[in-house]
Amino acid sequence: MLKCKDCKKWLTSTRTQLAVDSNNTVKKVINIPAKECHMCGKITINDSTMKRVNRYINECKEEVLDFQKYEDDESVASNELLL
Ligand SMILES: [Zn+2]
Repeated sequence: MLKCKDCKKWLTSTRTQLAVDSNNTVKKVINIPAKECHMCGKITINDSTMKRVNRYINECKEEVLDFQKYEDDESVASNELLL
């Protein structure tokens, strides 16, 4: 569990979206798991999630990237590698 650096309040789980620059086009990433502070409304995305966002952005051909969909695809792909 994480606390807000400013308010010292517990953060709650939420989903957020981001606009990310990729090869001179701005792509929208939706359904990103994040933590939200209800006091100040600040949204925090952890580093490993951000790394995956950046990786999916490079693979994504569409303008809108559904993070959850890529997560699902990725777990299928890694399962296949284990076979
Ligand atoms: Zn806060």
